[in-house]
Amino acid sequence: MNVQKNETDHLEIGHRTSAANSAPAAPDFLCQLLAAREERALVQKNILSSSSGGCLVQITVNVPGCPKRIENDEAVVQIAEAFFLRGANVRETVRVSLVNGAGVALLLFFPSLDPIAAKKTGIDVESTPLWGRALDIDVIARNGILTRKDVSLPARRCILCENEAKICARERRHDIGELRDAVRRMLTCAQVEI
Ligand SMILES: [Zn+2]
Repeated sequence: MNVQKNETDHLEIGHRTSAANSAPAAPDFLCQLLAAREERALVQKNILSSSSGGCLVQITVNVPGCPKRIENDEAVVQIAEAFFLRGANVRETVRVSLVNGAGVALLLFFPSLDPIAAKKTGIDVESTPLWGRALDIDVIARNGILTRKDVSLPARRCILCENEAKICARERRHDIGELRDAVRRMLTCAQVEI
């Protein structure tokens, strides 16, 4: 793992993998994915432990199947960051870019941002541009992760049909290749739109 400190409180953590890399054999991939998710959770915990209030915002691309990297993922996460900062009208005090086997995650900490306000802004970014549907913008407060229910909104829709995304995923209603292609197209749109 490479840890580079760019400037105060701005970190880049990465195990650089190309978006085009093919996935290792399934058991290896699963172990790597679990370890990568654990690393992400650890970074979240470390950032949150630095303050008693505020919230952590994590921007990721929701990549179906594996590998968890996909073309343009880092660029689009940064575009989403700009949208979020503009919408929330606030600056982060900690910014960590984590790239590992779980994909790209940008973690931003806001010591004085209300978690509900952050969740609403995150949902705006997820729903306003068409490509926002490919993103996951999670808001994590000290007492846990916020859900769409916390802001009285229904669950997210699937990117291919109008059903609830979780149900389509659980029942494996769509071909992974089709889902990945849909995400790929959305990320390309995001880059063209800017
Ligand atoms: Zn569906």
